[in-house]
Amino acid sequence: MNFDLNDDHRLLEQSTREWAAQEVAPKIQQLDREHRFDRELLPKMAALGLLGVCVPPNYGGAGMDYISLGVVCEELEYVDTSLRVILSVHVALNSLTLLTWGSAALKQKYLIPQAQGRLVATYGLTEPAAGSDARGIQTTAEKRGDRYVLNGEKMWISLADVADTFLVIAWTDQDKKRQKDPSGLSAFLIERTFKGFSSGTLTQKWGILAGNTGFFKMDGVEVPEENLVGLPGEGFKIAMFALDQGRLTVAAGATGLIRACRDASARYARDRKTFGVEIGQHQLVKEMLAQMESDYQASRLLWLRSAWLKNEGRRNTRETGLAKWFATVASERAASDAVQIHGANGYSDEYPVGRYYRNAKGAVIYEGTREIHKLMQADYVLGYRADKPLRCELPPYPTI
Ligand SMILES: Cc1cc2nc3c(=O)[nH]c(=O)nc-3n(C[C@H](O)[C@H](O)[C@H](O)COP(=O)(O)OP(=O)(O)OC[C@H]3O[C@@H](n4cnc5c(N)ncnc54)[C@H](O)[C@@H]3O)c2cc1C
Repeated sequence: MNFDLNDDHRLLEQSTREWAAQEVAPKIQQLDREHRFDRELLPKMAALGLLGVCVPPNYGGAGMDYISLGVVCEELEYVDTSLRVILSVHVALNSLTLLTWGSAALKQKYLIPQAQGRLVATYGLTEPAAGSDARGIQTTAEKRGDRYVLNGEKMWISLADVADTFLVIAWTDQDKKRQKDPSGLSAFLIERTFKGFSSGTLTQKWGILAGNTGFFKMDGVEVPEENLVGLPGEGFKIAMFALDQGRLTVAAGATGLIRACRDASARYARDRKTFGVEIGQHQLVKEMLAQMESDYQASRLLWLRSAWLKNEGRRNTRETGLAKWFATVASERAASDAVQIHGANGYSDEYPVGRYYRNAKGAVIYEGTREIHKLMQADYVLGYRADKPLRCELPPYPTI
């Protein structure tokens, strides 16, 4: 067993870290204050190869492994969650799903420009009335000749007002919709330019403010049947498969956020004095820093295992879910303690820890809430849940 990153990972880690520190860190506080998504970052991320980091070169990507995807996410979220969210929806939820489930034609048409950063992609499962209970979605896709006609609304979608392409889950079987039988769901790749598509930004959001989160509506959107991803009726499996990839990025990102909390807190604890000593000398402050360190190290090992299982081509829903659950809950704790260590200064956005705190909470909600992950892990332990083989599995590395 080898716990070291290889030279390629280390180079990627260093270049991503330097880019985010130089290009984003100096302006992130302002972007966050202005609730502004900086579109100019996308071509820069594309030029670094980040938007197709683990997509094979024959599909326009950098051809790196899934550990590399995690490395990038950890470094991006060290600076701001909004950067990592781009990787989660564009690379993990959408592009890796297209790579695994998409037809050859879909991969040529969409995956290549996505991996090269010429198209920006996202994922639409959640609706106003259904999040955790994905079977409760209302969007329908009715087959008419060689097209499907989609009607419905997706809500709380990252990059909704930015993306060009959307992986959308909808009911293709109305009887199964009534029975909430998920084998009546299908997945589609939809373009913003399709007639009847519209989107907007959620302006009342209080975290990940430098990110774009919104909604999109499909009002009789005609989608060619070639844009069906997988087979009719595979939509639920595809949606869950996508989350298996997204959760690695959320886990690795949360790990980066814990590290950011730890570093900011250690810096402050050496600087701030009370009762004649640096606050780092107080045992109760040390306790919070020690917790951050153990949470950081444990979260990192968990996401690395998840990525390694993906490299090996082994099923990892259980391990990836555990990594996501553990790291996000730990990041919320770390961010809360980071604010605490900063005292009143932590309660001001002059310091970054308040932003970390707001950002951390989102990840405890999306890609499976804390409660849903608890239930899943308990069900694995109890033997109520087991992961059956899928018709399509993520290509292992390096045999892709
Ligand atoms: C910043 C942000 C970005 C997002 N980006 C995307 C995106 O790009 N694409 C996308 O499709 N979605 C996205 N989402 C939506 C996200 O996935 C959902 O919010 C999430 O799945 C939870 O659904 P919900 O908000 O409807 O909460 P609900 O499902 O209504 O849950 C409400 C509460 O009830 C609890 N609960 C629900 N069911 C159970 C149960 N069986 N047992 C115990 N407790 C339960 C939940 O844990 C939660 O605490 C995003 C959300 C946020 C906040």
